[in-house]
Amino acid sequence: MFNISKLGMRKAIQLADDQKMKPLMASYLLNLVGLDEKLKCNTEVINFFIDHFYSSFNAKKNGNLLAWVNLPAPTEIFYAFDIIPFGPELMASLSSTLGFAIKDFEMAESYGISRDSCSFDSHLIGSSLLNSSPQADMLVSTTGTGCDAQGKSFEVTSYLAGIPVHHMSTPYRNNDPEAINYYKEELLRLIEFLEEFTGNKLDYEKLEAIVEVSNEASKCFRRSYELRRARPVPIGGIESIAHYAPITNFYGDMGRTEYFYKSLCSEIEQRIKDGIGVVNEDAIRILWLHFPPMHDLKLIKHIESIGGIVVFPEPALLWWDVAEGKNIIDALANKYTSIFSNGDAQKRIDKDLEIIKLLDVDAAIDFLHWGCKNFCSIATLTKDTLNEETGIPILEIDGDVVDPRNYASAQIRTRVEAFIEMLK
Ligand code: SF4
Repeated sequence: MFNISKLGMRKAIQLADDQKMKPLMASYLLNLVGLDEKLKCNTEVINFFIDHFYSSFNAKKNGNLLAWVNLPAPTEIFYAFDIIPFGPELMASLSSTLGFAIKDFEMAESYGISRDSCSFDSHLIGSSLLNSSPQADMLVSTTGTGCDAQGKSFEVTSYLAGIPVHHMSTPYRNNDPEAINYYKEELLRLIEFLEEFTGNKLDYEKLEAIVEVSNEASKCFRRSYELRRARPVPIGGIESIAHYAPITNFYGDMGRTEYFYKSLCSEIEQRIKDGIGVVNEDAIRILWLHFPPMHDLKLIKHIESIGGIVVFPEPALLWWDVAEGKNIIDALANKYTSIFSNGDAQKRIDKDLEIIKLLDVDAAIDFLHWGCKNFCSIATLTKDTLNEETGIPILEIDGDVVDPRNYASAQIRTRVEAFIEMLK
């Protein structure tokens, strides 16, 4: 039987160009993640992963440039330069799901990185020391999640690997012309950096065409989540997590991403028409705050077996906005400064309130990721405000998105089970 965990990521992904092996790999991953095989888009989402990792691991061999970028980077600009944007956060997540991540954490710790720091960052450093991620030609960090931890880790990687790093800062204020102008300058600085690195001038027409398709993809992406309002919920919690993968980096060509979300909407609409649901009509509808534990996705499935369902994972909000403006740089500046995680806590709370109303949410689970100063510091404020405004109960659980060593599986299950039982 095909087993990526035994082969290792780098070796396994090379088998993707064998047309007999690729479906076996897709089927293995589908089962490992727990995706519903009956939904055609689930195989496509896995193929997105395989193709993205295949082209990223082979970038050098194929003469392509690759940039490590952190969420949420203006990936449209990278595609306009034919540079593959690769997210180390995605690498950490997938390694964690596949059970590979611990060796990267241990490597980072042996280099002196504290186990108390955000595990996304220590994974990034450990994997660059072990050369277990696709090799980057450059590093571009943003502070669009309101966090500069990744930028600092990129600096360490730049020092270790001897490759250039470029930092972009996103202003804390948004919907403010001065802040948007500041970010426009940041985008122009990025373009200058990429022009210098590649020796090519940016083709603005190409960028406009890319943004047009990425906007369409964003709209379909948003619609695919709005459809989860249906009763019974037509699609599972695992799907709601896996389905933001294609848009994370607008992987591959933009047209494929747009086509994916259009097909996904059609499949969900058909399920709604046929009255198909993954749980009973009265299942407790849960908003999941922060990322879920990528090494224990079975927890999300388990929730469905005890009368609940995750209808929306908060990170999907990262791609909620489209780029609109009088010219392409204005449009991108509007889009990337309006992201929910950038700016004050109230902005996050307002977006969560919108989702609670939109999807008829009954409860929320806030996953307090070890070392995340950005979200953990506003956990109580978020909990109290959401509760006051909507009356929904919120369960806080401590854990780690990608490091299974900072996670008490049995204890977490007991607390989640008691929470759902109380709500029934
Ligand atoms: S999980 Fe938190 S601390 Fe870690 S990179 Fe993301 S926002 Fe920053």
